[in-house]
Amino acid sequence: MSRPLRLALALIALLGAGRPAMGQTPPAPARTRQAPATAAPAAAARRTVAVVITNATIVTQDASRRVLAPGAVAIDGANIVAVDTPAAIAARFAGRQTIDGRGQILMPGLVNTHGHAPMVLLRGLGSDLNLMDWLQKYIFPAEAKAVTPAFVRTGTQLAALEMIRSGTTTYTDMYYFEEEIAKATAEAGLRAVLGETILKFPSPDAKTPEEGLARTEKFLVAFKNHPLITPAVAPHALYTLEIPTLKACRALADKYGAPLIIHLAETRAEVDTAKETGNATPTQYLQNAGVWGPRTLAAHGVWVSAPDIAVLKAANVAVSYNPESNMKLASGTAPIVDMLAAGLRVGLGTDGAASNNDLDMFEAMRFGSFQQKLIRNDPRVLPAQTMLDMATRDGAAALGLAEVGAIEPGKRADVILVDTRGPRETPIFDPVAHLVYVAHGDDVTTSIVNGKILMRDRRVLTLNEPAVIAAAQRAADVVRAAVK
Ligand SMILES: [Zn+2]
Repeated sequence: MSRPLRLALALIALLGAGRPAMGQTPPAPARTRQAPATAAPAAAARRTVAVVITNATIVTQDASRRVLAPGAVAIDGANIVAVDTPAAIAARFAGRQTIDGRGQILMPGLVNTHGHAPMVLLRGLGSDLNLMDWLQKYIFPAEAKAVTPAFVRTGTQLAALEMIRSGTTTYTDMYYFEEEIAKATAEAGLRAVLGETILKFPSPDAKTPEEGLARTEKFLVAFKNHPLITPAVAPHALYTLEIPTLKACRALADKYGAPLIIHLAETRAEVDTAKETGNATPTQYLQNAGVWGPRTLAAHGVWVSAPDIAVLKAANVAVSYNPESNMKLASGTAPIVDMLAAGLRVGLGTDGAASNNDLDMFEAMRFGSFQQKLIRNDPRVLPAQTMLDMATRDGAAALGLAEVGAIEPGKRADVILVDTRGPRETPIFDPVAHLVYVAHGDDVTTSIVNGKILMRDRRVLTLNEPAVIAAAQRAADVVRAAVK
């Protein structure tokens, strides 16, 4: 492997790095309001819809953060058509399928705003090591030998299984052979914002940044107007690209009205690089390079100053907070509380599974909230409602996806059910705090994206789980051989 390729891979890795329970009906919390009762039309006038989910506690995440306990939702085509009391929904709609959500919380699917999906195949490869040792002994050799279109496809399918099983309905990705990731994602039925990683070094799928840009343009054209896939431009980071390429990435995003996603100020080393090469902070460096613009999402933002936050706010750049990766790699703590106070849009992310080591967004919510409370010595910061917003409606807004992130008529039906009937989930006093501080990804029983049921009662319907796991085991053998 060439030195530039090794370095490129090092840098990439661094970044990628209805059974009711007895007495279990939760008491209505203070914020709960019953939906207004609507006059029930005659039964004959009922509209047939694809799915009705009834008797669940609904955490809507709408503008007024309504919680309906109990509530019901009618879904037809790709959309949520009504949200109301079970009686009102039953009076107006007949579902071709009815799901009894008793003992469960119905909420918008989780939105993961940063990651590298196929890196699930490197999960747990080398732990508790100095970063450069980990990269040089494990991640580089593995990626150099293993990353092919087939590897990426298997990795995406494995990641999709994990995401569906843990309640993520929209995710963000920057990796290689992104067209394979897009195809596998659409087949699995997930929604995603995907970008081909662009580097100044040879990458697994592009020898030059020009080739990376050309691949990106082809990808933007191929997936334009796809119902699930939003193609993006994904320059890797300031230290892996020259300024002319960063400018070309911005121009390409503007030409297609595409999102631009990039790593920003993840480590202290990046601050040093920006100072040495541009006499600026990473945020200012990318400002000077013309990167900031519409529909832009910066991942991490650990090392940003108050003036940097003002620059991001002025440019309307959104930030992806990746608490678990930042803690595991000891990168630092992003000043999320200050960003929120400044009015920045902030979403939540897991980062790649090689540096997390999973894709469970419930865990990311809990760790993210705890990390901010700890660093600020204040348990009042980043409360449960703010954290849940970040993982749903705010993450969707950060990605420019206004059609998801809340349970409201007219939004796309990206909906999950979270079981609250087990010992760990008992009792419930506040459903929102429960989702952030108690729930695990494994509690998700049902997942629906764009109106399609992807998982019902913990059974994934869009992927052959045993076949994907067997393929992932074979891919892991290739990884093992690569790092021997
Ligand atoms: Zn990353």
